[in-house]
Amino acid sequence: MNFNETLKNIKTYEAGKPIELVVREFGIKSEDIVKLASNENPYGVSPKVKEAVANKAGDMYLYPDDSMFELKAALAEKFGITSQNLIIGSGSDQVIEFAVHAKANKNNSILINSVTFAMYEIYAKQVGCQIIRTASQEHDLKEFYELYKKHNPAIIFLCTPNNPTGDALDANAVFSFLEKIDNDTLVVVDGAYMEYAAYKDDAKKIDPKTLIEQFDNVLYLGTFSKAYALGGMRVGYGIAQKHIIDALYKLRPPFNVTTLSLVAARSALEDEAFVKESIEKNFIQMRRYEKFAEKKGLSIIPSYTNFVTLVLKNGQNSTDISENLLKKGIIVRNLSSYNLNAIRITVGTKEQNDRLFEELEQLV
Ligand SMILES: *Cc1c(COP(=O)(O)O)cnc(C)c1O
Repeated sequence: MNFNETLKNIKTYEAGKPIELVVREFGIKSEDIVKLASNENPYGVSPKVKEAVANKAGDMYLYPDDSMFELKAALAEKFGITSQNLIIGSGSDQVIEFAVHAKANKNNSILINSVTFAMYEIYAKQVGCQIIRTASQEHDLKEFYELYKKHNPAIIFLCTPNNPTGDALDANAVFSFLEKIDNDTLVVVDGAYMEYAAYKDDAKKIDPKTLIEQFDNVLYLGTFSKAYALGGMRVGYGIAQKHIIDALYKLRPPFNVTTLSLVAARSALEDEAFVKESIEKNFIQMRRYEKFAEKKGLSIIPSYTNFVTLVLKNGQNSTDISENLLKKGIIVRNLSSYNLNAIRITVGTKEQNDRLFEELEQLV
């Protein structure tokens, strides 16, 4: 059977391996598996969220509140914006999809960093849109601007902090960049790890309210999958001026976020102490990775997130190393598909990191 031409050069997104797969393939007990591959919050779910979801379970025979009134109100309050500035997606992934489908097509292009979140490219290819990439590995806004001038892209994606490298832009630099961009180019600021960056360095903190007050062509993305510890519930959001939100809404399928996910997200917002504590522990544990890299003479990209990218040396192969770790029940992310000889490791709990260092010690 023939399918649309556009599907031909799409590589299927490769998610971090689930625990179940390692149980099946290697016969390792699930409690012995350490999953450090998808940047989830390793400290698990806040007890308050568990309780709220359990209390709501009896409602799952009903369709969700499609207006998402309560979650929107809570997010609007958190950010000092209005509900009209918000769209909620099944993960911020879905909001990326809406944005791409709203602006990109076979006659225009999107501009992305050379190494960045894979979904921008995948969604753009679905609509036959051209992909322009920078050459530099870290976001270089000068280069972004030159490419913008040359190609006049429909969308520019700034992923800050960036996945899978962990580096982040200064908020000031992002604001100055935006000043120079014409208002028909949509600039997406993907802040999936912003809570971590904001904690580590105030200069990296991008406030969505200020952003959308100043610019009518910017869409800020946030997610509950990372610091808010709800990866399994699939909730993310976009913040923008109303005219952008209205356009994205035309692409939204009905009931795109489940009842239990809405409740989980709203109650997660009520337990900011849990989030803050997770972030503090994250950076304490991250120091251990920095020391490990130093000891082994490996370079580590300074990270503003809950993961680190270990760049391997010649003679060390990221595919071999990740496979060897997998056999021991440790799941990390091999970055060979990004043309990097590096592995991305989610910073785990103290015990998880102990296990990882023990095994990695013998491999590098
Ligand atoms: C994890 C991630 C997302 C999307 O996460 P969802 O689970 O779909 O909300 C978006 N952008 C980046 C950079 C990410 O790392």
